[in-house]
Amino acid sequence: MRALIIDGYTDEPAGLGVPPYIDVYPRYVAGAIWASAPGAEVKYVTVDFTRLHLDYVMEFASKCDLVLFLTGVVVPGKYLGGEPLRLEELIRWSSTIEGPVKVLGGPVARFGYGVSGGRVAVPPERFKAYFDVVASGDVEIVVYNLIKEGLRVEMVDPREKREGYRLVDLFAVKGARIVEQHPNLGWNLIAEIETFRGCPRWITGGCSFCVEPKYGAVEFRSPEAVAREVEALYAYGVRHFRLGRQPDILSFMAEGVNEIEFPSPRPEKLRDLFRGVRSAAPELKMLHIDNVNPGTLAHHKEEGKEALKVIVEYHTPGDVAALGVESADPRVVKVNNLKASPEEALEAVRIINEVGGRRGWNGMPELLPGINFVFGLRGETKETYQRNLDFLNQVMREGLMVRRVNIRQVLALPGTPMWWFGNRVMRKHKRLFRVFKRKVREEFDRPMLRHIVPRGNSLRELYVEAHEGKYSLARQVGSYPILVYVSESLPLKTKLDVVVVNHGYRSVKGIPYPLDVNSASKETLSLVPGIKRSAVNELLTKRPIKSPEMIESIVGPVAAKYLTVSNLAKG
Ligand code: SF4
Repeated sequence: MRALIIDGYTDEPAGLGVPPYIDVYPRYVAGAIWASAPGAEVKYVTVDFTRLHLDYVMEFASKCDLVLFLTGVVVPGKYLGGEPLRLEELIRWSSTIEGPVKVLGGPVARFGYGVSGGRVAVPPERFKAYFDVVASGDVEIVVYNLIKEGLRVEMVDPREKREGYRLVDLFAVKGARIVEQHPNLGWNLIAEIETFRGCPRWITGGCSFCVEPKYGAVEFRSPEAVAREVEALYAYGVRHFRLGRQPDILSFMAEGVNEIEFPSPRPEKLRDLFRGVRSAAPELKMLHIDNVNPGTLAHHKEEGKEALKVIVEYHTPGDVAALGVESADPRVVKVNNLKASPEEALEAVRIINEVGGRRGWNGMPELLPGINFVFGLRGETKETYQRNLDFLNQVMREGLMVRRVNIRQVLALPGTPMWWFGNRVMRKHKRLFRVFKRKVREEFDRPMLRHIVPRGNSLRELYVEAHEGKYSLARQVGSYPILVYVSESLPLKTKLDVVVVNHGYRSVKGIPYPLDVNSASKETLSLVPGIKRSAVNELLTKRPIKSPEMIESIVGPVAAKYLTVSNLAKG
């Protein structure tokens, strides 16, 4: 049995699988294959690798028994770590491969292809012409059945869903080995970890645009099962984990789930979960979360605060609780059955700041809120845009910190109330949307970045992930890490600390910290906080500088603390 997994990447409201992330799909599917055919050869490639080595991958695919495309970007965005599978690639590549059984899985098979925000997705039926199985149920279950049935397509139901977590827990552990083939292993790979599925608000129908309530009653994984999976991933070298695959981490095993709309957080359950992860991965480098429902915090302030304190006790700093505020227009909130009023959302921002605002060892605050806005919803008017701006202005006035504002156009997905409504509001408000985005970038994002990481603030343990012109693009490993333009050309995967010297709208400029005076470029030396132009010139003419004392005598004590001399020069 030989199988090929082509990871076309996934991005959903609850779950990310664009590098440096690996989502659950390839891991669960690999586990399903190894659970049913223990000796199977399973090859994993990313879409980016496939683009570069197309002939090789297509030839390999044609020699396989089973080929899986796992992809689907429900919330489209731009990514530094990779480019998700394009629609024409999906069609062209799958048509090229002849021989093996071809399976399409992931959000694209369930909800369709999200072309871009504001545009209705291409429905999954379209792909039936190119695949033997379009797994609109749970792809790992479909694949497990398929192999057990000797790859006889007619014997499996592509709509089959899991029943509880028994099989998934098994697949998760068995499939962990697939990370060995991921190009980001050994530096910044992050494993997205699932803790539960379904939204507690399903009992009221949930938000008008969201697919999560379609899962029905919420089902939890046990903390022990999560720990076993983390232990397996850790054994294969994963050091970064995000408990991001659930709509609201504070609802993990919360009191009243499936009975009330906003169940009450149970800090002791979160402690079991986080403690389990920590003991399964004792030397982990990163442990972050993702979504938090602002309504949960607003309805259960004390329990919510205690739950957040547990997270901050076990996680690593630079963490972000992404709040689905969606809209600060009460009318839009009501018509679309959104989760929180503007006042409630603001309260959630305050609570997270109170618990997570302290700065951690890596230079970032422990835990900050992120804010998600969605446009194109029913009931949206010109005034909605102003109300959202008012909301952000209030955040600023109160001196609160927000890690990032995510602004997107609604993507109408089949099965949601928005599917019938379509993109008519978005079409009408295109200009308003553009203006709003620009205003937020200019009037909110930059001052907020200055607040979170002021000039002179150091950030630790970043990796160089890409280059742009003469700059190296580096980030910490984390939930929503700040992008740093480093004014030196450094090899990819270099690990470094930086000092922030300037702020853009969504990124900052940084210099390596400490900066070697003997090898730094003139431009980088000029960016050192507190350095004078004459001192830069003097450093350049007097190179090699041999001692810290010599540095200080030239640049003064303020700038000297950012500078060092290489061992070579000392010797
Ligand atoms: S609160 Fe709304 S957006 Fe969040 S998961 Fe539930 S239905 Fe979806």
